[in-house]
Amino acid sequence: MKKLNQAQKIEYSFLKILTGSDLSQRKLPVMEAKSVNSGPVVWLTACVHGDELGGIVIIQEIFKLLKKKPLLKGTVYAFPLMNPIGFETASRHINISEEDLNRAFPGDKNGSLAERIAEKIFTSITKTNPTVVLDLHNDWSQTVPYVLIDPAPAFKNKEIYEKVKSFVKKTGLIMVEEPAKLVEEQDLNKSLTYSLVQKNIPAVTMELGESYVVNEKNVEIGVKSVLNILSELGMFEKTEDFSYPVAEPALGKILKYSSDPASSTSGIVRFVVKAGDIVKKGQPIAKVYNAFGKTMETINALQDCVILGLSDTSVAFPGTPVMALGIIQ
Ligand SMILES: [Zn+2]
Repeated sequence: MKKLNQAQKIEYSFLKILTGSDLSQRKLPVMEAKSVNSGPVVWLTACVHGDELGGIVIIQEIFKLLKKKPLLKGTVYAFPLMNPIGFETASRHINISEEDLNRAFPGDKNGSLAERIAEKIFTSITKTNPTVVLDLHNDWSQTVPYVLIDPAPAFKNKEIYEKVKSFVKKTGLIMVEEPAKLVEEQDLNKSLTYSLVQKNIPAVTMELGESYVVNEKNVEIGVKSVLNILSELGMFEKTEDFSYPVAEPALGKILKYSSDPASSTSGIVRFVVKAGDIVKKGQPIAKVYNAFGKTMETINALQDCVILGLSDTSVAFPGTPVMALGIIQ
């Protein structure tokens, strides 16, 4: 039997993004692990939101693993730190210009600061003709890890939509699709993954636990999930198939993201469910109390759903979302 040649080249480099007022060069770190055997191209991207740090470590751990156990074929590229300006002050945005880098794609060479950085990132990724792009994010402090699919209208090509769904199933994470109404409300059509799928490049967003700090448990989950994809593509030798535990009515289903119902009163929120719980339609999920401790409102689930995460603040006003839910369809 012919033995696969496991030679692989690992390279770390930089992509220049701007020259600072002190004439320092600002750069994005780029990582590349390339097998001598041609094959799929996978991009891992992290920290587009400067306060979402877990993804950086997941990428570092993947490359540590690849040094020990080389790729069987193909190439893994990574941008571990897409927003160094936000990272340095632990803030979501590029704080010089107060822009959300993940609402600036596909970018513009002559546009705003975020659009110029986005253009460099986007061009670097698309010119490699990727098989799939995994964009690593973090969200609330009390949350389950899950993978997000862009809303159906993002996909001009239904084949890419199906491809993305099959990648999402392989992540082993809870699967959630964003509703179309969020596209306009949150400028989602300018996110990295939305812009990629518009160009017929499969891309998914992985939400892997809390922002601000590195949670080792979530790093482990993220690494296993990325390895699932690399194994599926035949790029990495399979050891175990990872899947995050989720109970039966939600098992294997693509859930629909929702933050309804919002609070309709003001006060202090007490959650009566935990992230990861499966709740039935009509079941209480939170209560709002006034300053004297009197119950103002009980918030009930509108449909059967999985609790994805609880809001990072327990302050309620009329219209404040209190948690994120994955509706079981
Ligand atoms: Zn994010």
